[in-house]
Amino acid sequence: MQPGVARPRQQSASDDLVVETVDLTRTYRQGHLVVPALRGVSLAVERGELVAIMGPSGSGKSTLLHLLGGLDVADSGRLVVAGRELGAMTDDQRTLFRRRTIGFVFQTGNLVPTLTVEENVALPLLLDGTTLRGARPRVRAALESVALLARASHMPDQLSGGESQRVAVARALVAEPAVVLADEPTGSLDSRTATGVLELLRRAANERGQTVIMVTHDARAAGYASRIVRVVDGAVVRTLEEVPCVRGER
Ligand code: ADP
Repeated sequence: MQPGVARPRQQSASDDLVVETVDLTRTYRQGHLVVPALRGVSLAVERGELVAIMGPSGSGKSTLLHLLGGLDVADSGRLVVAGRELGAMTDDQRTLFRRRTIGFVFQTGNLVPTLTVEENVALPLLLDGTTLRGARPRVRAALESVALLARASHMPDQLSGGESQRVAVARALVAEPAVVLADEPTGSLDSRTATGVLELLRRAANERGQTVIMVTHDARAAGYASRIVRVVDGAVVRTLEEVPCVRGER
């Protein structure tokens, strides 16, 4: 199937569901303090969607993203990502699942300071058993897509903040994960670099059918989304904004 082209009609909508949560809860306990971070989140996201998760600080957005990425485990509820039920996995299975299925972009690049740009981008492939040599063609293509091929042998401390973030995006996309999770991906960027990063995420969704879920406070970033999900007090609030709009036209 051509990237970005809608699937044939005979397939049911559920074939295209990449993320499904039902009544997901997560409560943090610190001594006597009990913080219900998620109070029953139900959410369905299809292949090729770019969803923006918005909401006040402390409303549970990062907790939700961490659960979706298998970085944390829910207390109750159902969580299926790319056809796998995360609640049923052991820690090792979850780690493997994360490597193969999820790409992460954090607010600041989070590059490994002792590795070159090329090695940083190659990491998801190296962790999955590919050699650096074997990974090179995909790494170079990923660096080219973020216009940083010329920096392949540089160290992270030789890059600007915006360049680091573009390297982080290349790393998140290099293994072509089904799901890309981004936590405030433009939070530390100037507006021009932010636009570049958002375009990359939009292309991942529209052209390669990856499912991108991004937590953001930035209205312009949300403007790139095909749908906005609002989280308030640990629950999804249904609003008109949640109605899907035509991809790429917001
Ligand atoms: P947001 O991303 O929307 O700002 P978070 O998901 O980070 O919200 O946090 C939701 C709630 O859970 C907040 O009240 C926060 O203080 C609490 N919380 C988050 N992580 C932890 C943790 N590791 N331990 C205790 N409380 C936490």
